[in-house]
Amino acid sequence: MMIIKDKEFVPFISEETIDQRLKTLGAQISSDFQNEKPILLGVLNGSFMFLSDLAKYIDIPAEFSFVKLSSYSGQSSTGKVKDLIGLDSDLKGRKIIVVEDIIDSGLSMNHLLESIQSREPLQVAVVTLLYKPDAIKYPVKIDYVGFEIPNKFVVGYGLDYDGFGRNIPSIYQLK
Ligand code: 5GP
Repeated sequence: MMIIKDKEFVPFISEETIDQRLKTLGAQISSDFQNEKPILLGVLNGSFMFLSDLAKYIDIPAEFSFVKLSSYSGQSSTGKVKDLIGLDSDLKGRKIIVVEDIIDSGLSMNHLLESIQSREPLQVAVVTLLYKPDAIKYPVKIDYVGFEIPNKFVVGYGLDYDGFGRNIPSIYQLK
């Protein structure tokens, strides 16, 4: 059990389980994008740990970049998308793999995909560490999913609760 600010969290997905899954995802992405020189585009802040660990299992030539986008304050979605910053590398004609920590309602990803599409990439794929199928409101085509999880709030491994918990090496779930 772990307390972050005023809430209790319980262990949910271990470091070992995450590592095993990332090995498989990295091998799949490497095989699907061999000779394609994709750009892996991490969505900050939440994806910093996921993309960093996943990158070590990608054994093909690839570029890495980040954008920043957030729609969350505290525990529940505000339903509003905030600013998108950092989408400045040249995406035209390139294969883009968007790397997200979690897809909840799908609002953030829909917004981001529109911005990416306007830069005329050759192809856009989506990889998310976590996906809550019961929470989706704005459908997204997801190409690679780490774990499908129930519609409960999670922290750790890059994900925060009110700014804290991102540095926990495994994933915890709200009790
Ligand atoms: P969406 O736009 O899909 O509703 O929300 C996506 C964003 O909300 C994620 O990138 C993440 O920052 C945040 N989010 C959604 N669910 C959770 C959760 O269970 N825990 C945490 N820490 N953040 C979440």
